[in-house]
Amino acid sequence: MANSPSVKHIVKRSLQHIAAAFGPHRRTPKEPTLLILMYHRILPENDARARLEEPGMMVTPETFKMHMQLIKQHFDVLPLSQWIDHKNNDETLPPRCCAITFDDGWADNYEFAYPVLKELRLPATIFLVSDMIGTDRLFWPERVAHTLAAIASRCPNKWNDPCLNWLKFNNTDYDYGSTPPDREQLSALIGRIKALTDKDIHSRLDNITTTLNLAIQTRPALLGWKQVAEMRQSGLIETGSHTCNHIRLTSGQDGDTLAHEVVDSRSTIEKNTGAPVTTFCYPNGDHCPEAVTLASENYACAVTTRKGWNTCHTNAHTLKRIGVHEDISADKTAFLARISGWL
Ligand SMILES: [Zn+2]
Repeated sequence: MANSPSVKHIVKRSLQHIAAAFGPHRRTPKEPTLLILMYHRILPENDARARLEEPGMMVTPETFKMHMQLIKQHFDVLPLSQWIDHKNNDETLPPRCCAITFDDGWADNYEFAYPVLKELRLPATIFLVSDMIGTDRLFWPERVAHTLAAIASRCPNKWNDPCLNWLKFNNTDYDYGSTPPDREQLSALIGRIKALTDKDIHSRLDNITTTLNLAIQTRPALLGWKQVAEMRQSGLIETGSHTCNHIRLTSGQDGDTLAHEVVDSRSTIEKNTGAPVTTFCYPNGDHCPEAVTLASENYACAVTTRKGWNTCHTNAHTLKRIGVHEDISADKTAFLARISGWL
């Protein structure tokens, strides 16, 4: 039947209603709990920057405001560092707390999230990639998106150049010579490329830029230190570390690189903000045992991308979070179901 919702959709929607009505945000737990929300980008649907971004990376300002109003209604919102301090000092914690976090340090956090947080007086933590703040460097997923868009618009006839072969995982699915990937295709492509190391991906992208003479002009996508300072001075925004260069902290990395990325990012942020940094976030959620040890030695806590709520007994250096993005949280029921951690 045309236009009727599928059985799968009806079942999913019913489960969302159950989770929204009976999830842990509705109950008083036996011991204090901490929900940590994970956001990346806050971008209006019609913003040019949203066109080249994966769906899992963003929410619109309107959706974000709706989320924050619900969070304020159902939780005590504390800065992440404060919840950890209270726990470490055996101080009384409210039964149901929420900490709001943003990964990477996108400029749009200042443009679209900060005004909402100020209006609602909600604190949050932004995890900065210390050596990329205030520069025009891009993360590799955005470099891939910009590169494919540039090829499609400027040199579609170069699509068969061997330097692009590594982007063609499946010749029938991926022919981006004249049409760049849409958001879903981009997400699938980036998922496959993750099998390569960060260093390898950046050097393959450098090779494309040189071989095809494809200089790509972008405006800085990340925050500058001035914006960071302004947000910090409000008393609402604290800064955490998300490494120096957004290197995935996997077992394949050598010890010096791991130490540099985890430890030096902290001193760079502290030098630029004049404030202590006590929280850490593992890029892509990857946390090899060596990285967890380094985080334990240098930070009061560290967050992963493992989904769930935390208690005082959760390891403070592998804290769980719940990632929120537009496609799964655009209405109140979907958002409350998502934060329940059940679906
Ligand atoms: Zn990140």
